[in-house]
Amino acid sequence: MGAWNEGFYGGPQVRAVEDEWAGAFAARHAVAVNSATSGLISAAGAAGVGPGDEVIVSPYTMMASATAALVFNAVPVFADIDPRTYGLDPESVLSRVTPRTKAIIVVHIFGQATDMDPIMEIAEAHGLVVIEDCAQAPFATYKGRPVGTLGHMGVFSFNHHKHIHTGEGGVVTTNDDGLCERLQLIRNHGEAVVGGKGVANLIDMVGFNFRMGEIEAAIARCQLAKGPALIAARQANVAYL
Ligand SMILES: *Cc1c(COP(=O)(O)O)cnc(C)c1O
Repeated sequence: MGAWNEGFYGGPQVRAVEDEWAGAFAARHAVAVNSATSGLISAAGAAGVGPGDEVIVSPYTMMASATAALVFNAVPVFADIDPRTYGLDPESVLSRVTPRTKAIIVVHIFGQATDMDPIMEIAEAHGLVVIEDCAQAPFATYKGRPVGTLGHMGVFSFNHHKHIHTGEGGVVTTNDDGLCERLQLIRNHGEAVVGGKGVANLIDMVGFNFRMGEIEAAIARCQLAKGPALIAARQANVAYL
């Protein structure tokens, strides 16, 4: 939508799945997008990642986790992983922090949660934004809390390789109103709606067409409802094997 109106937020199915996803993951906001790759790019943009910034990222992942930084002319910096979780090792992350570091992208891989508490401590100490790539870990928990709401933004995939899917799709969760607005703008070309919407923070805004369609959103609502049962079946199969 190029001019300000309610359509900026997507159709009724998109808004419904966003509400349901936010509810299921105890997040303040969910922003539906057309892939987790789009979601990671949106999250990096919402975080204000810009030219010359460094983004610390896990090297043990699918490429989209690292290339999100490149889209904004920033530099992905690989830290090492912890052999227990296969997620980022906090000590290695700390050793990669420089004055140029802007964000950390943790990847909860194989349904395993990264050790988030020490990562969040490092982020708070250095003023960094933490993005969680949850493409392989919907419904995974860390100390009883679902991944995707432990950092500043969480990115989920609805690609057909993933636990639940809509063919292609994704969603970004956040508890921050400002980040939510930037995610919505980046999803929608960062476009002309800003005047009517009263947007003030447009610094370094590069937008795209990352909108989710109504058909995918309708499928996502059914998939979300089935999600816990599908994960439970996988876990039972793993236990049996
Ligand atoms: C699949 C995957 C992505 C990308 O998801 P798409 O929805 O296919 O763009 C990103 N990160 C990880 C860890 C993945 O497994």
